[in-house]
Amino acid sequence: MRFRLPLVPAFAAAFVVLAFAPPALADPTSVAIFPPQGARFLPGQRFDIRVEGKGTAPYSASLSINGRPLHFTSGTADPVATDGISPAGWGGFNRRGYWLGKPGLYRLSASFKDGSGKAVTAETTITVESLGNDDGWGDDDDHDDGRRGREQGRDRGIKNVIIFLGDGMGAAHRTAARIVSKGVTAGVPNGTLAMDTMPAVGLVHTHSLNSIVTDSAPGMGCYTTGNHSRNNQEGVWPATVTNPFYAPRVEYLGHYLHRTRGTSLGIVTTADIEDATPAANAVFTQARGNGTGICDQYLDESDPTDSRAYGTGLRVLMGGGRRWFTPSDKDTGNGVYSSRAAGNDYDKLPADLVDRWGLPPEAAGKIDPTRNLAADFQAAGFVYADSKTKLNQALYSQPDRLLGLFAWGNMNVAVDKLAERRYRMGIPGYTDRVVRDHQAPDQPLLEEMTAAALSVLKKNHKGFVLMVEGAHIDKQSHQMDAERAIGETIEFDKAIGVGLDFARKDGRTLVLVTADHECSGFSLIGALSGGIAGLKALPPDTDVLDPTKAPNRQSVVGVYDAAAFPSYPILSDGYPASFDVDGKLLVGFGANGDRYENWLTPSKPSRESLTPTKLASELAGLSYASNIPVTRDEKKNGYFIRGQAVGQEQAVHTASDIPLSAYAKDPDAWLPFAGTYQNIDVFFKIAQVLSR
Ligand SMILES: [Zn+2]
Repeated sequence: MRFRLPLVPAFAAAFVVLAFAPPALADPTSVAIFPPQGARFLPGQRFDIRVEGKGTAPYSASLSINGRPLHFTSGTADPVATDGISPAGWGGFNRRGYWLGKPGLYRLSASFKDGSGKAVTAETTITVESLGNDDGWGDDDDHDDGRRGREQGRDRGIKNVIIFLGDGMGAAHRTAARIVSKGVTAGVPNGTLAMDTMPAVGLVHTHSLNSIVTDSAPGMGCYTTGNHSRNNQEGVWPATVTNPFYAPRVEYLGHYLHRTRGTSLGIVTTADIEDATPAANAVFTQARGNGTGICDQYLDESDPTDSRAYGTGLRVLMGGGRRWFTPSDKDTGNGVYSSRAAGNDYDKLPADLVDRWGLPPEAAGKIDPTRNLAADFQAAGFVYADSKTKLNQALYSQPDRLLGLFAWGNMNVAVDKLAERRYRMGIPGYTDRVVRDHQAPDQPLLEEMTAAALSVLKKNHKGFVLMVEGAHIDKQSHQMDAERAIGETIEFDKAIGVGLDFARKDGRTLVLVTADHECSGFSLIGALSGGIAGLKALPPDTDVLDPTKAPNRQSVVGVYDAAAFPSYPILSDGYPASFDVDGKLLVGFGANGDRYENWLTPSKPSRESLTPTKLASELAGLSYASNIPVTRDEKKNGYFIRGQAVGQEQAVHTASDIPLSAYAKDPDAWLPFAGTYQNIDVFFKIAQVLSR
């Protein structure tokens, strides 16, 4: 028996394993490292590194750069909840606020292990671009003081950057604005747009990190970070974290220049200020719709004391979106609307993020739907205007900081703002109803906001970054409301004129005009054959579905010779008296949703998606159409056009390249923008021009 004794425990042990151990663990899955492969940075530009994976706790990870170990700033090996921001079943490890000084290629290698004991590796290669000078950021070690460098005390060269971002603006939008506002005679335009006068034109690819077709979040963010993001995300990478604001960041142009040069940031838009394009200049989030957190972060990371240790140096914030600046408990639905909510805010940013991005503790964020954000902006030195009249008053005091919130959600479009102005001037045929119905009867035009922004920003002699967005070029193209989209493009061009005037006098300002993507496949197919009166008298086309029978309104589309030269009477404000003129320009939508087409301007805009809920229902009560164009009764005497993509109720963005125009007094500053290049290249071209 004795000889068997050793075998018994061995057999028993094996039995125990079979009976009580969990089944053999699989390798960890979804192991990833951020930044993604191919990411590019400026010397000294901050970014977060994250290693994450799915598996069974406990998790551990290691990280190296070009073979040299790099320590994490959060994520510990033993606990189940590694870094505290990874969801159940995930482990996460972060290195926050990293930067590299020396241009070149860097290989980041990570090893991720879970409770199975098995390690999975992940690698990414990133590039630090040369600025074509000595860069001056020291070696490639970890530094906490990113402010070192050669960027101090410049007295020549480009110091200001103005980016005019025509959201959704393709080449056809520009052409339409010129034809309508200037006219054409015998093949020669009767005038030029402001943007036509800019010397360099480039063609920009608009893809995002995960699609050929981008939305505005990565569409804008690629210009301001030099990096692609996933759709709907801005200033961050698509890591798996418990709050969209905790995702790994990449530093914006505004932050980088504020920190290294002491510049200020201005953001001006005709959209709700929470919208993707404005936010992709200053806010780090995976959720472009989380307005409470987004608007809080504008202020919390604005560095109002100009410490230059962190933040954007935000001095101008103008647009719509008062609903996010009004406490939730003040939402009366009686002309006072709030959309602030705990569900789209964020609580305390991770401690290592706060530490490594140099944020003061009070900037870490909290869940505060009852915050009076407008009051907090004022306490931080911003003069606040909620109407055009108040804006004019505010400018008399020559403020250092300016907050303008001119509507509760999106601002109204030029066509409707102008109708109100013409009505007040006593011109017959116009009404102030639309702006009044939106509880925003006194809104500035984009060129007025641009002039106001420049008057504030120019006070900082160290320079500024200003982004001016013509937001409704996109929004009205989604709606397939051609006339309002063209009106917006004209308004946008007038703002560009203000920027160019400033730049020509100043001499040290780079002006870029571009889009984030094209919207709707906007195309100029011809002009109306015959008059408006005849068009209005036609019987309905609704039932004409037989392809051998042309609907009446299809047969009035004049193409080639019949299109000739549309001509619009222009009022002294620079806009057509009406878009519905005989021989009017006709627009098709190649990326359309289902719609009815009758070629006439809808009398009212549709309800915008960025509108406080109560205001939206009030507008519905006033018979404003929903933002699903096919439901618009006013168009239903037109013929039905089936859109291509199921479930797309509006026209969609397209993957087309978009034009970019550049101006600076010094030709060496605009020349780099000629040619064809990626959207992310624009960021590095700006940086190179600034460092010359
Ligand atoms: Zn859009």
